[in-house]
Amino acid sequence: MSKGKINVAVENIFPLIKKFLYSDHEIFLRELISNATDATNKLKHLSSLGEVKGDLGDLTLEVKIDKKGKKLHIIDKGVGMTADEVNKYINEVAFSGAEEFLEKYKESAKDSGIIGHFGLGFYSAFMVAKEVEIITKSYKDEPAAHWVCDGSPEYELKKSDKKERGTEIILHIDKDSKEFLEEARISELLTKYNKFMPVPIKFGTREETLPQPNDAAEDAKPETKTVDNIINNPDPAWTKTPADLNEEDYKGFYRELYPMQFEEPLFHIHLNVDYPFNLTGILYFPKLNNDLNIQKDRIQLYQNQVFVTDNVEGIVPEFLTLLRGVIDSPDIPLNVSRSYLQADGAVKKISNYITRKVADKLSSLFKKDRKAFEEKWNDIKVVIEYGMLSEDKFFEKAEKFALYPTTDGDYFTFEELQEKLKDAQTDKDDKLILLYASDTDAQHSYIQSAKDKDYTVLLLDSPIISHLIQKLETSKENISFARVDGDAIENLIKKEEATVSKLSDEEKDKLKPMIEDVVSDSQYTVQLTAMDSNSLPFVLTQPEFMRRMKEMQQTGGGMMGSFPEMYTLLVNTNHDLVGQILQTRTAKKRERLIQQALDLARLSQNLLKGEDLTAFIQRSLQLIK
Ligand code: ADP
Ligand code: MG
Repeated sequence: MSKGKINVAVENIFPLIKKFLYSDHEIFLRELISNATDATNKLKHLSSLGEVKGDLGDLTLEVKIDKKGKKLHIIDKGVGMTADEVNKYINEVAFSGAEEFLEKYKESAKDSGIIGHFGLGFYSAFMVAKEVEIITKSYKDEPAAHWVCDGSPEYELKKSDKKERGTEIILHIDKDSKEFLEEARISELLTKYNKFMPVPIKFGTREETLPQPNDAAEDAKPETKTVDNIINNPDPAWTKTPADLNEEDYKGFYRELYPMQFEEPLFHIHLNVDYPFNLTGILYFPKLNNDLNIQKDRIQLYQNQVFVTDNVEGIVPEFLTLLRGVIDSPDIPLNVSRSYLQADGAVKKISNYITRKVADKLSSLFKKDRKAFEEKWNDIKVVIEYGMLSEDKFFEKAEKFALYPTTDGDYFTFEELQEKLKDAQTDKDDKLILLYASDTDAQHSYIQSAKDKDYTVLLLDSPIISHLIQKLETSKENISFARVDGDAIENLIKKEEATVSKLSDEEKDKLKPMIEDVVSDSQYTVQLTAMDSNSLPFVLTQPEFMRRMKEMQQTGGGMMGSFPEMYTLLVNTNHDLVGQILQTRTAKKRERLIQQALDLARLSQNLLKGEDLTAFIQRSLQLIK
């Protein structure tokens, strides 16, 4: 047997780093600006400890394009490096000076916001540059150093005459990365990744309009002056304490995050924990419509104010991806696959914390001002219902504030609803039947006839409502939902004193085949019932179960396989027209009446279309003639 050490030759690793370190080449800029920010924060920290004396001066970072020289410069006024430090931190790949700093200053540096971690970020420069230079002068009293490397493992380290403290990184941009010499492209990257970084970043200059003197002529050209163009806001709202912010600040920050969004958010939730994990952020509830998919992926994830991604899948629960805002946590491991994330203990805790905070906020809004909460319900229900469906912990809390509006515009909690209807709306086994409509226009006649009987009709129109109904029915005892145009409403009707049928059994036996002959369509099952004479002659209903399964299928989940369209054609034996059908001797005339009654039933279900609709109109005209 023999033991040994695998010999990793740098020559082989280097091209790999260059190619595969990050799938996205553009992040080199984020990495270099992160290093410059770290260097500046280290300096501030050392100054606060008294290890660096005197005034630190202006600490603004600068990004500069030299188009002619095909160079990109990243300049900071941070701690800088001595030649020894360059050897240690740069020439030794995967040795992180950031880690070392945090280790050395442990407790005191805990909140210094140091970004670096793995000691690889710097090398991402080689993804876009054929040669990289570092010119750096440490805050320590030592000569400046100049490091040059052309992407092969060989480098050159010499003295430099740089006088001011700090580091300048010069990238000689590769010819296939020319895009990074374009002002627009760099500007785009700075906005994407660095918009909220903690140290001011200058990129070029801009013209600023000066205040006009009072006696200025109307048509005078306003005076301007050239100022540094600072691309970031180093103190974004989420890094402040809620007590220091008012409603306008939160709205202002929302506009900063989503400049193209004109609608204001409904309310916000400020997140702030430091134990057992570190997390800050602000989540906003936007007005949501029923199209769930287009509204996802708006939450931005940051680590120490550096933008990381806007895909927070696995970090916040699925239902909250409909919200907007920012989450900032140094504790989220991002170098792992998303499926691993979901299993990670710390991430699970973060996700639970966010869920709890959202539930608490909603609960307090509900308790503080119920009227206002009711007014917002329509815009927030999707998130709440989605959450109730997918997270049991959320369900427990949300049950107390989830609302069930009626078609008359009243709002009830589930408990209030049970209390209100416990005697009025039950079937023969005392099961509570909750009637609902999903579309007040399409189901108008059904809603009307239910209301005529003094029933309460809920208006439940979210795209995922059938899933939630299914869940409520299984988790609550002795309740059942029935859509107004469905067959389940029958259970309610049957409990009432049965209406006596005007027809004898004999007459009924004659009537049924008459109708079945005309209604030959296998979609319809004919059924005779005695309703009151004010109802329609024919009514179409769809089996509640069937319809709900279909809806669940359309919005994901539910059973597999496709369900046929099926309707029950209820024939009201007490209606005058039905009596007339029975009396009519001429077959042709009778068929016409049946067809007309059927079409009226289809019309009220919005099922009459095309050729059938045309035929109906023609027949109607003939009948009035
Ligand atoms: P990390 O940031 O994860 O530590 P990097 O590869 O990005 O790893 O950088 C390696 C080290 O090089 C840093 O930790 C830091 O000590 C040093 N360094 C890089 N850029 C600068 C800079 N602009 N100023 C001072 N030191 C720097
Ligand atoms: Mg780094």
